[in-house]
Amino acid sequence: MILALIRKGPRLALMGHNEVSEPLIQFLGAAGTVTGSRFLLQHQGTRVLVDCGMFQGIKELREMNWDKFPVDPSTIDAILITHAHLDHSGFLPRLVKLGFQGAIYLTHYTGKLVEVILRDSARIQTEDAKYAAKKKFSKHNPPMALYEEADVEETLELMVTKDFMQEVAVTPNVSVVFHPSGHILGASYLEVSFFGKRVLFTGDMGRQDHPLLVAPGNIPAGHFDAIITESTYGDREHAPTTANFEQVITETVKRGGSVLVPAFAVDRTEVILVRLRESMEAGSIPRVPIYADSPMALKALDFYRDAIEAHSPEIRSEIVTEWAGRDPFDPGTLVELFSPEESKTINDPQKPCIIISASGMGTGGRVVHHLRNMLPNPKHTVILVGYQAIGTRGRSLADGAEFVKMHGELVPVKAQIEQVESFSVHADSNELLQWLKSASEEPGRVFVVHGEAGAAEVLSDRIHAQLGWRSHVPHMGEMVSI
Ligand SMILES: [Zn+2]
Repeated sequence: MILALIRKGPRLALMGHNEVSEPLIQFLGAAGTVTGSRFLLQHQGTRVLVDCGMFQGIKELREMNWDKFPVDPSTIDAILITHAHLDHSGFLPRLVKLGFQGAIYLTHYTGKLVEVILRDSARIQTEDAKYAAKKKFSKHNPPMALYEEADVEETLELMVTKDFMQEVAVTPNVSVVFHPSGHILGASYLEVSFFGKRVLFTGDMGRQDHPLLVAPGNIPAGHFDAIITESTYGDREHAPTTANFEQVITETVKRGGSVLVPAFAVDRTEVILVRLRESMEAGSIPRVPIYADSPMALKALDFYRDAIEAHSPEIRSEIVTEWAGRDPFDPGTLVELFSPEESKTINDPQKPCIIISASGMGTGGRVVHHLRNMLPNPKHTVILVGYQAIGTRGRSLADGAEFVKMHGELVPVKAQIEQVESFSVHADSNELLQWLKSASEEPGRVFVVHGEAGAAEVLSDRIHAQLGWRSHVPHMGEMVSI
């Protein structure tokens, strides 16, 4: 039953918690978009937020981070975080700044990655606010950061890290179990018990064939009252192979060019490095230097190495057996570039090499400088390996743009542009359906979230048509009893 559409304003406060007899879920983000995952469970004065993501992408979305939060953050008892990506954890310091004081539950490596990601986010926002002040284009006067380093410090103090597969008591009537989802290090799908109701949150669902992480296991047995599933690739299937990856690299090196791979700092960099190491060992690509050029990616890389050494349960057992004590990311040509000075040494590379740099959609980070230097030269190749959101430089390149705007100038795109989507760490439409089928019983209801316009509807229709389940795409602010 849909009780009310509540966007913001005083209506929620007027309703009070005790006037409704059923536990409620409210969709405060990732409804009709892929970012800003925030789902509020509430009943009898207890409030638990699942994920606390930042809205990202086009300006209209980013501005939603400044909207009044629909409930007083100090009345939220706890937050559960599925994984470290900014669109799932990036709003945490803002909520703490606004008064949240409860515990934040997350897995061990999600905690480590969240720390790195939030510090970076605070730095970027502080710098952007300073820049906006200088250019006088902010609507806030003086320009403000959503949060700062001090808010991140406070957030870190509220974090409580937990093991996978253990029931964690959150409040007297709420518990959670973190299950490995195979999406990135530390990532989990959540089995939540909320006042007797069982609710499953997929977070971001990984694929069956991640080279390092265990595949997501079957949905825990028994009846779920609600399943909240992502739908990033809800209307698409990934290409079956990545055979052209090696071919493109080899051809580029043969003509004396270099390859640039814009990659998300966390996980994609690791997946690409493993693939390059395997390909070099198999002789399917030339042994050229590989530069890993992103400070955040290098920190994340150490967490992956650490997780392998520590036999963390989310790492595939064969990886632990084969690689503990050795480095699965280095074929002997890996160079890690930490400082900006080191990064500059590979600007406009004269000798063939492979550069992996963040961000993955070319929106910021060191990769922007590499794009600017390499795009005008037809010798080079840019390989896009991940999801490219609308409005990003990566999306423009994928769509065949002849020029892209950078630092206020139009840069001609003469380099070869290739897209290799099968490196995705999101399950596609068929994989999501296949995984949902592992439920031992039909759930009460499925809510399809975290998809761009169209993708969520397509997945929801497929769930209804192929599984016969009740499925629904909630809109922003919608509140539903479970
Ligand atoms: Zn994610």
